[in-house]
Amino acid sequence: METQAVKSVIVAGTGPVGLIAALGLARAGFSVDLVGPDARTDDRRTTALMTPALKYLSALGVLHSLEAEAAPLSVMRIVDATRRLIRSPVVTFRAVEIDERYFGLNIPNRVLNATLSEAVAGASSIRWHKTLVDRWTTTTGQISAGLADGTTVEAELCVAADGRASPAREAAGIRTTVHSYPQAALVLNFAHDRGHGSTSTEFHTETGPFTQVPLPGNRSSLVWVVRPRTAEELALLDDTALSRRVEEQMQSMLGRVSVEPGRQIYPLAATLPARFAQNRIALVGEAAHVFPPIGAQGLNLGVRDVIDLVETASKHRDGPGSERSLSIYDRKRRPDILARTGAVNLLNMSLLSNTLPAQIARGAGLGLLGSLAPLRSFFMREGMQPGSGIASALSQLRPDFGSFAIGRGPKA
Ligand SMILES: Cc1cc2nc3c(=O)[nH]c(=O)nc-3n(C[C@H](O)[C@H](O)[C@H](O)COP(=O)(O)OP(=O)(O)OC[C@H]3O[C@@H](n4cnc5c(N)ncnc54)[C@H](O)[C@@H]3O)c2cc1C
Repeated sequence: METQAVKSVIVAGTGPVGLIAALGLARAGFSVDLVGPDARTDDRRTTALMTPALKYLSALGVLHSLEAEAAPLSVMRIVDATRRLIRSPVVTFRAVEIDERYFGLNIPNRVLNATLSEAVAGASSIRWHKTLVDRWTTTTGQISAGLADGTTVEAELCVAADGRASPAREAAGIRTTVHSYPQAALVLNFAHDRGHGSTSTEFHTETGPFTQVPLPGNRSSLVWVVRPRTAEELALLDDTALSRRVEEQMQSMLGRVSVEPGRQIYPLAATLPARFAQNRIALVGEAAHVFPPIGAQGLNLGVRDVIDLVETASKHRDGPGSERSLSIYDRKRRPDILARTGAVNLLNMSLLSNTLPAQIARGAGLGLLGSLAPLRSFFMREGMQPGSGIASALSQLRPDFGSFAIGRGPKA
């Protein structure tokens, strides 16, 4: 029997998406050169990862270590806290409405990064070069990365997980549209008197969402989107004053609030490349899409990039970085990335816009979601996994359609 040589892949970037991509490719039988510094241990954010992403982490063998420090997310609420003429009613999404115990888990990024790093360190087919890529060179059939430590690594495929500024994306010659928002996210964790009941509440304000997400015990994480200057002013307040501001913003919903040490500010932007793969380079994570943190979509989308990339590369083992393989990956990712990017940016802009039509459209949309259970159920399923809302809706009409429609477009 003919045996195929093990193909090697370069993964550039050691944020959560790069680490997950390295583990996914190694598990699929590729030899991986991972390039990037030690994963961040100072990231104060938490990430709400939905069930489909958790299933992938479970298949990679890392979910178990994350569960102890994560909190389930069973109810998600949107509260219109604007002072505008048209305001929508509170919309509540409950996981039980779609027969799930929870939508996902809220995991501290510090824990996620440490757990993924440990798994990478233990994988024999991953070589982690703890340095940066200085330059990329593409020759026929190969891509080579010149590293800052003076060495060079070569492969047939490079996975660009090198973040929003992605030097690899630039080396691939992919044009990108970038938009900066007049917004920044203040991030912190806090303790509170009352239990959160595994509920996350997103208060929509004129400057962006104020999102509380449950952590284990009587603790929650906060992403508070405001004007950049306001974010800086809030971050400079002492603990007592900031705790009071957070409590006021939540209308004392969780009782008395005590902010924990450590506040960080993330400027908001939107980035969309014209293609998701080209010249032996495939984009994943924030190299492929950046948008404001509304509805916990970013890293969930990044995990779906990895799943599709590993599947495509596995089906094209003779040429994982070939034009054919890359154009299949590009086609697969396009609808999901464009839909999420479009929806999140539209919602964000409707919050910032003072025009009446934008307020009416947002109010009507949220109003319909609040009052129509089947529509809500559709959105909840689609929010977790593209195609599954449509699959469920079709299975209500014709039970035999359910399993067929779960796929996402034509198989490669
Ligand atoms: C406030 C906030 C809250 C969020 N909450 C959620 C949430 O609840 N749920 C969710 O799904 N998403 C959320 N997101 C989005 C999520 O954080 C991002 O999608 C995710 O962090 C992107 O990870 P990444 O690995 O693609 O990029 P990054 O984490 O930016 O990693 C990029 C990596 O590339 C490396 N790098 C850069 N240049 C080079 C080079 N030349 N050579 C080698 N390496 C290089 C960097 O060192 C870094 O390690 C949130 C985002 C924000 C801002």
